[in-house]
Amino acid sequence: MIIAIDGFSSCGKSTFAKAIAERFGYAYIDTGAMYRAVTLFALQNNIITEDAIDIPSLLSRLDDIAVSFRRNTATGQNEILLNGENVENAIRTIEVSGKVSEISAIKEVRMKLVSLQQLMGKNKSIVMDGRDIGTVVFPKADMKIFMTARDEVRVQRRYDELVSKGMAASREEIKENITHRDYIDQHREENPLRQAKDAIVLDNSDMTPEQQMEWFIARSHFSCIPAEAGKQSGNE
Ligand code: C5P
Repeated sequence: MIIAIDGFSSCGKSTFAKAIAERFGYAYIDTGAMYRAVTLFALQNNIITEDAIDIPSLLSRLDDIAVSFRRNTATGQNEILLNGENVENAIRTIEVSGKVSEISAIKEVRMKLVSLQQLMGKNKSIVMDGRDIGTVVFPKADMKIFMTARDEVRVQRRYDELVSKGMAASREEIKENITHRDYIDQHREENPLRQAKDAIVLDNSDMTPEQQMEWFIARSHFSCIPAEAGKQSGNE
């Protein structure tokens, strides 16, 4: 069973995807974190400089980049590892956010990560969020959701997320970054952000997490919820 969640930056895709995964016992995969990890690698290795990305150098180092996830048993959350090192916080900085869309527009980077994502979803029930999950990674996903929210709501959510992690950023900087990323994500040649024809749209601007869960349950086919998970969560 595969649930694909795509949509614009900072509209709460990962919070929603995590909640579904937890409630129904699915694995959660944050594909944005994977593109962020590759961007972090490029920053750490001077492949990205002030105003340029050394693409030949990045391509020659692609095989040196290992991205994986590990469950933190203490927090119950997934953490992303870059070459074995936990980079869950390091990938969320405004510096990484500022470059990730340029890195994720590179064809070879996408090919590497898309095939890894397809492998991660093999023989498992998963919720995966990103920009091209319902269109490219899993075009036959059992359920496709396309998320959006008003600009000011998205800016506030990203601001709150950064503040909660102790990272400084201004709302203006965040707004600029979100607009910039959405533009590149929608206009790139490789796997641009698009709503899949068979996706259901969720505008969660004025919805609480509980209302979003009710929305999901009302639209999901009962058959896509594993019986054991349904029993565990009292959702029969
Ligand atoms: O989801 P998140 O905002 O962390 O994603 C960061 C960036 O990674 C996006 O702005 C986009 O450029 C890229 N991305 C992508 N394809 C995905 C997931 C993320 O291009 N499936």
